[in-house]
Amino acid sequence: MIEMFFPYILFVVLIGFWASKWNRSIIAFALLALILSPVIAVIALLFLGNNNPQCPSCRGYVDPSARKCKNCGDTLPL
Ligand SMILES: [Zn+2]
Repeated sequence: MIEMFFPYILFVVLIGFWASKWNRSIIAFALLALILSPVIAVIALLFLGNNNPQCPSCRGYVDPSARKCKNCGDTLPL
Protein backbone atom coordinates (compact mmCIF):
# COMPACT_ATOMS: atom_id res chain seq x y z
CA MET A 1 0.00 0.00 0.00
CA ILE A 2 2.80 2.42 0.86
CA GLU A 3 4.15 2.15 -2.72
CA MET A 4 0.89 3.56 -4.04
CA PHE A 5 0.62 6.19 -1.35
CA PHE A 6 4.07 7.71 -1.83
CA PRO A 7 3.63 9.19 -5.35
CA TYR A 8 0.31 10.62 -4.22
CA ILE A 9 1.96 12.54 -1.37
CA LEU A 10 4.67 13.67 -3.77
CA PHE A 11 1.97 15.14 -6.06
CA VAL A 12 0.34 16.90 -3.09
CA VAL A 13 3.70 18.46 -2.11
CA LEU A 14 4.43 19.48 -5.72
CA ILE A 15 1.01 21.09 -6.10
CA GLY A 16 1.51 22.96 -2.80
CA PHE A 17 4.89 24.19 -4.07
CA TRP A 18 3.37 25.24 -7.42
CA ALA A 19 0.50 27.04 -5.66
CA SER A 20 2.98 29.00 -3.52
CA LYS A 21 4.97 29.94 -6.67
CA TRP A 22 1.79 31.38 -8.16
CA ASN A 23 0.89 33.25 -4.96
CA ARG A 24 -2.01 30.89 -4.18
CA SER A 25 -2.93 29.19 -0.92
CA ILE A 26 -0.65 26.17 -0.34
CA ILE A 27 -3.08 24.67 2.20
CA ALA A 28 -6.13 25.03 -0.05
CA PHE A 29 -4.50 23.37 -3.07
CA ALA A 30 -2.71 20.68 -1.06
CA LEU A 31 -6.04 19.78 0.60
CA LEU A 32 -7.80 19.84 -2.77
CA ALA A 33 -5.19 17.42 -4.16
CA LEU A 34 -5.31 15.25 -1.06
CA ILE A 35 -9.08 15.04 -0.63
CA LEU A 36 -10.29 15.14 -4.24
CA SER A 37 -7.53 14.41 -6.72
CA PRO A 38 -4.17 15.93 -7.75
CA VAL A 39 -5.59 16.15 -11.29
CA ILE A 40 -8.44 18.40 -10.08
CA ALA A 41 -5.97 20.58 -8.13
CA VAL A 42 -3.80 20.98 -11.26
CA ILE A 43 -6.86 21.90 -13.37
CA ALA A 44 -8.00 24.40 -10.69
CA LEU A 45 -4.51 25.97 -10.63
CA LEU A 46 -4.36 26.26 -14.43
CA PHE A 47 -7.89 27.64 -14.53
CA LEU A 48 -7.24 30.30 -11.86
CA GLY A 49 -3.81 31.13 -13.31
CA ASN A 50 -0.84 32.95 -11.86
CA ASN A 51 -1.85 35.30 -9.03
CA ASN A 52 1.50 37.09 -8.81
CA PRO A 53 1.62 40.82 -9.62
CA GLN A 54 2.99 41.76 -13.03
CA CYS A 55 5.72 44.28 -13.75
CA PRO A 56 4.25 47.33 -15.58
CA SER A 57 7.37 47.62 -17.76
CA CYS A 58 8.06 44.07 -18.95
CA ARG A 59 4.80 42.27 -17.95
CA GLY A 60 6.85 39.63 -16.16
CA TYR A 61 5.54 38.06 -12.96
CA VAL A 62 7.20 39.36 -9.80
CA ASP A 63 7.20 38.44 -6.12
CA PRO A 64 4.28 40.16 -4.25
CA SER A 65 6.72 41.59 -1.68
CA ALA A 66 9.30 42.71 -4.26
CA ARG A 67 10.01 46.42 -4.73
CA LYS A 68 12.08 45.90 -7.87
CA CYS A 69 11.38 43.72 -10.89
CA LYS A 70 13.66 40.70 -11.02
CA ASN A 71 13.41 40.64 -14.83
CA CYS A 72 14.13 44.23 -15.86
CA GLY A 73 15.16 45.91 -12.57
CA ASP A 74 12.38 48.51 -12.73
CA THR A 75 10.98 49.90 -9.47
CA LEU A 76 7.49 48.49 -8.87
CA PRO A 77 4.48 50.53 -7.68
CA LEU A 78 3.11 49.67 -4.23
ZN1 LIG B 1 10.02 44.18 -15.29
